[in-house]
Amino acid sequence: MSLSRALVAAVRSLAVVAARTLSPPACAGCDAPNADAAVFCADCLQTSVPYAEGAPRVGAGMSAGTGAPLVAFAPFGGAVAEAIRRFKYGDRPDLAGPLGRLLLCAARGAGVCVDLVIPVPLHPRRLAERGYNQAALLAAHVADGLAVSFAPRALCRVRATAQQAHLPRDVRLQNVAGAFRVRAPERVQRRRVALIDDVATTGATLAACRAALLGAGAASVTYLVLATAESGADELRSSPPSAHRT
Ligand SMILES: [Zn+2]
Repeated sequence: MSLSRALVAAVRSLAVVAARTLSPPACAGCDAPNADAAVFCADCLQTSVPYAEGAPRVGAGMSAGTGAPLVAFAPFGGAVAEAIRRFKYGDRPDLAGPLGRLLLCAARGAGVCVDLVIPVPLHPRRLAERGYNQAALLAAHVADGLAVSFAPRALCRVRATAQQAHLPRDVRLQNVAGAFRVRAPERVQRRRVALIDDVATTGATLAACRAALLGAGAASVTYLVLATAESGADELRSSPPSAHRT
């Protein structure tokens, strides 16, 4: 993808955010008007079932040995899943606001205590296609809310990976191992890091990022995601084919 196409995608995303910011509050799941600043309308709220504080949050699809505490807002389903799909594949970067609030709420509820917030990076080609990294937009909200440092470019993808959602679970870890690198190790050394993504399925991507962060000297890594999906392949299949790549 050329630089000009990337620029067009980024400008289009900014325009979407500006337009949505000026429109009246709407439900993140279905765009129904919301009288107040609530994330979901009454109907969608019924299908959004957040994890209770202290409840186990690791989905059955999560591989053993992903190695770090995981905090999630809710299981992937209902309005939460719909809002994430719209945010990620529907050209709706403006949904980072309401979804970021949900993630921050989960972080606070779990007593997350970190020094630095880092998003799971997109490969530059994917970033150019989408115009924004959904994890980075969420991470900005979390860092702001927790009043800690935000390092959106601390991690980078050194190679594109095959579509995780289409791979068997045992292949996923292998697929992403070594796919990430820490750009500036001095930024993460001795820091407690919150690693942000939208959805965790097997946790393979998170584990690969964690390995890079710990290898660069981070003190600890806590995973912070909007939703845990038990079966990423099934849940995400309804999105457009090009969108499977994250
Ligand atoms: Zn709704």
